[in-house]
Amino acid sequence: MARPSNVSGFYKLPPEERLKIIKEAVGLSNEEADLLRSTGGLKLDAANRMIENVIGGITYPFAVATNFLINSRDYFVPMALEEPSVVAAASNAAGWTRGKGGFFTSNTGPVMIGQIQVVGVRDPFGAKMDILAAKDRVLDRANGVDPVLVKFGGGAKDVEVKVIDTVRGPMIVCELIVDCRDAMGANAVNSMAEIVAPMIEELSGGKVLLRIISNLATRRLVRAKAVFAKDAVGGEDVVDGVLDAFAFADADPYRCATHNKGIMNGVVAVALATGQDHRALEAGAHAYAARSGRYRSLSTWEKSGDGDLVGTLEMPMAVGLIGGATAVHPIAKIAVKILGVKTAVELAEVIGAVGLAQNVAALRALASEGIQKGHMKLHARNVATMAGATGDLVDKIAAKMVEEHMVRFDRAKQLVEELSRKP
Ligand code: NAD
Repeated sequence: MARPSNVSGFYKLPPEERLKIIKEAVGLSNEEADLLRSTGGLKLDAANRMIENVIGGITYPFAVATNFLINSRDYFVPMALEEPSVVAAASNAAGWTRGKGGFFTSNTGPVMIGQIQVVGVRDPFGAKMDILAAKDRVLDRANGVDPVLVKFGGGAKDVEVKVIDTVRGPMIVCELIVDCRDAMGANAVNSMAEIVAPMIEELSGGKVLLRIISNLATRRLVRAKAVFAKDAVGGEDVVDGVLDAFAFADADPYRCATHNKGIMNGVVAVALATGQDHRALEAGAHAYAARSGRYRSLSTWEKSGDGDLVGTLEMPMAVGLIGGATAVHPIAKIAVKILGVKTAVELAEVIGAVGLAQNVAALRALASEGIQKGHMKLHARNVATMAGATGDLVDKIAAKMVEEHMVRFDRAKQLVEELSRKP
């Protein structure tokens, strides 16, 4: 019989009690329960305050990418993720551009958009004019809810109104343009959208439904550029290969999803290490890639007059240093300290540079020896560990499987048995 999962009052219990229930329900061993309990740098108590129904924690590897020279400043870049090769690729690619000055980045400011949906408006275009005419009052009301943000120079700066056609007829969308300073801003913007809603109803004569931030952060873009000397990436053929790989991605969404995923390997890893809302970044990135109506590359690749590789990246980057997990997760705080960034836009620019580095590393590997060579060694170690190898045996078995071109779980198991038997 299936175990009933409708445990009454589960959410009210302390983590230990919840863990006990789950342990008994699914038959976890004491060792497994202990592993869940050992939450590493984040105390169970703190984890319990971050999300609901907590019973433990999961630790990701935390690594530091090297070689990043961004706007003439060196950075050690913390990255947290489970995928092998990403940190090595970022570090290598960052090294390839140092001779050309590294990464050059800029941003459009920490500006987010809050949307207020209005339905049932008889004269949407007339209502749009009425809302815009009352812009200053709307902004005052929005800013009244967050004096701290205003004090730091942020706050609601503008109001825009659009009339959209939908399957339910025309609707008005009133957009608050909010400078979020060093916050990612979702809470701040959502609060503003909620507080001005009654005023928007009054001005439009309609009914307000949704009041929520947009993750398509087109006003919070980060831009990065880097030149990679042809000799640093492996010669002219590799440069041409990267250009062909880019052209393929930009023309075909099936390839482009994977191309942009490579960029997100770097973006999300730094985001995770620094406690960002990486779902917000993913949503923004892919929506931005599709903004023309066709899903396209977030980066561009060209050849300079000298035959070097010129890469650029432009994408939304809604990251913060205040609020969210960044402010409460002790490891995220350490990550920010390692990076040494002082503002949210500086963090955004570093992440943009990492995205570009990750992209060139993947394109270079794909256009030359293929992605598997670099991947395989690390992947082989994971497979060996999964098959039960420990200590020195992990590397030994991994090396053997790579040599045999047979990185497979069944082969790893055989080798574990064979080699563990030997004295
Ligand atoms: P927050 O509300 O915790 O912190 C922001 C507030 O900090 C500001 O409103 C301001 O009052 C204050 N502040 C102090 N010093 C500041 C400074 N220098 N710059 C800016 N603000 C300063 O956090 P938030 O950034 O508004 O919201 C982020 C959280 O919202 C994330 O955890 C995210 O996951 C969550 N969230 C996301 C979405 C979404 O992306 N769709 C929706 C809802 C919630």
